[in-house]
Amino acid sequence: MSATVLIAGAGTSGLALALSLLRNGLSVRIVEKQLHFHPGERGAGLQSRTLELYKFLGILPDILERSASETTLRNVQYLSAPDDGKPPRIVHAAQESKNSPARPLVETRFLGQNRHEQLLREHILAEYGVQVELGTELQSFEQHPDHVVARLAKIVDSNPVEETVSVNWLVGADGARSVVRKQLGLSFLGESPEMEAVTGDIHVIGETLKQDQGDGLLVWIRPDDTPAGFMRPCLVPGKNLFQFIILGNKDLDLVKISSSREEMIKAFHEITGKRDIEFGELVWMGLWKPNIRMVDSFGNGRVFVVGDAAHVHSPTGGQGMNSGVQDSFNLAWKLALVEKGAAPVSILKSYSDERTPVIASMLNMTTELFRKELAPKPGQRQDFVRGSELLQLGINYRGSLLVLDEKYTDKDELVDPYRSGDDGTVRAGDRAPDAPSLTHLSANENANIISLFDIFTTVRHTVLIFPGTAGEGFVTEVLEALREYPSNLLKSILVLPRSSSSSTSTSSFAQSAMTLIDTEGYGYVNYMVAADTPTVFIVRPDGYIGALVTSGRQGVRSYFSGIFL
Ligand SMILES: Cc1cc2nc3c(=O)[nH]c(=O)nc-3n(C[C@H](O)[C@H](O)[C@H](O)COP(=O)(O)OP(=O)(O)OC[C@H]3O[C@@H](n4cnc5c(N)ncnc54)[C@H](O)[C@@H]3O)c2cc1C
Repeated sequence: MSATVLIAGAGTSGLALALSLLRNGLSVRIVEKQLHFHPGERGAGLQSRTLELYKFLGILPDILERSASETTLRNVQYLSAPDDGKPPRIVHAAQESKNSPARPLVETRFLGQNRHEQLLREHILAEYGVQVELGTELQSFEQHPDHVVARLAKIVDSNPVEETVSVNWLVGADGARSVVRKQLGLSFLGESPEMEAVTGDIHVIGETLKQDQGDGLLVWIRPDDTPAGFMRPCLVPGKNLFQFIILGNKDLDLVKISSSREEMIKAFHEITGKRDIEFGELVWMGLWKPNIRMVDSFGNGRVFVVGDAAHVHSPTGGQGMNSGVQDSFNLAWKLALVEKGAAPVSILKSYSDERTPVIASMLNMTTELFRKELAPKPGQRQDFVRGSELLQLGINYRGSLLVLDEKYTDKDELVDPYRSGDDGTVRAGDRAPDAPSLTHLSANENANIISLFDIFTTVRHTVLIFPGTAGEGFVTEVLEALREYPSNLLKSILVLPRSSSSSTSTSSFAQSAMTLIDTEGYGYVNYMVAADTPTVFIVRPDGYIGALVTSGRQGVRSYFSGIFL
């Protein structure tokens, strides 16, 4: 079985990477050391930015169909441990988020990681015929200037077999204990707080607790004001499933509690006092210890790490799985361009450069939440409160050497890598906003109203030309400049102001670029383009603004000279 890219690890990070690479025409092998797929919910919260990226990847309809709305999980019920019979204190944890023309998918969705992974595997298999190779462990690798040799160990017909495979690239999506990270010699600095928990998924029977009656997250607080346990409804259709966490303290023997279903249930009843909760099948359970660490570099040469292989943190804030998926989106398009011979190998360095500050910021944020919510010092516990930055819509790469901004030229004006947009600007490096209600100018085009998010895709750059009231000259020179680059790797969109009509002179460009009228004005407003300032936004395949160009041809060339060979 030959492939261009070997991905070690079939969690969400590895599978999202695989699908992105396959979309880009690369061949992949995905090896997974376990004999069976993990049955657990674990990271179930799909943040808004992940949903957007899945739209560009073409799998959003399936995700929305299988996932549950967050509405029933916005409340947190605080109960005493053990229960004192008083009614729970109910806290509204998350800001109610409303969709807007620039942010059409703000609602966090819930889909257990097991079902999320299954959905990704289904697309990979159905669309590309690629199957995850279970029971196949990456053991070691050697790097060469133009390839990587990897050694795999697997079981064939009950016999251990070794395989040596040569690939162009290796990506370690192999989780927190990553072999790839260790063999690359990447440092993994951080801390391991003194704390342990037992976590897993369990069915509840009877009428005491229903996963879909809108109770939200249940949290039990000990008399010393530290959290003792959690129950989160999993919202799996037709089931009554809960994710539980029992947090350790000096009186608890967590190893014993995690040794069997009976021990776990006994401990749960004792800790919470809720002896009327009757449990059914235990789906899985394990000991969990927080680690807060990240790599100093996300790769070296032809080998990279994504997801938990590169960063581990507390689950507070629901950022881990989402961050791993986003690592994969950042890496995939760059790797694809390099592999196709369209981009220099040097652009791969930007994967590490761009993700490092974002992940460092995420670690700070989730650690702060961890200290307030999961492991507070006496008297310092705080209720769950969710800030909008956790939606991950403010993540940005403004400081990246790959991006070009001709409007905001002061690179020293730093912004938190998680909070672009708070400053009221849209800049190069930011998430490209949506703009709905665009209509096709040409009668030949499909007359449907579309949005920019219908156009963005993970397989090419999208060049948005906002000519405003400028003459044809600006558009002509931009389109001429774009002709110098591979036409299959970019798509040009001319966004005409809403006052335009089919008699507009720029309709002559309809053959070189999809020409859309900004019927409701959202395009110019959301991208903050003044009518008298013709502007080009070059949107990368990962949905971030690569360039904000006001000079025309010169800016377009300047950006793409850093991308294409
Ligand atoms: C209780 C809990 C709740 C969480 N809640 C959230 C949440 O709400 N939101 C969120 O975003 N995150 C959450 N997380 C974190 C999230 O689960 C992880 O960040 C996510 O699993 C990382 O995905 P990954 O694909 O990078 O790694 P993993 O899911 O760990 O997958 C790595 C895979 O690689 C395989 N592997 C390892 N070594 C090898 C090898 N040598 N060869 C081949 N295969 C190998 C492993 O078997 C595994 O299948 C939570 C975690 C826990 C434990």
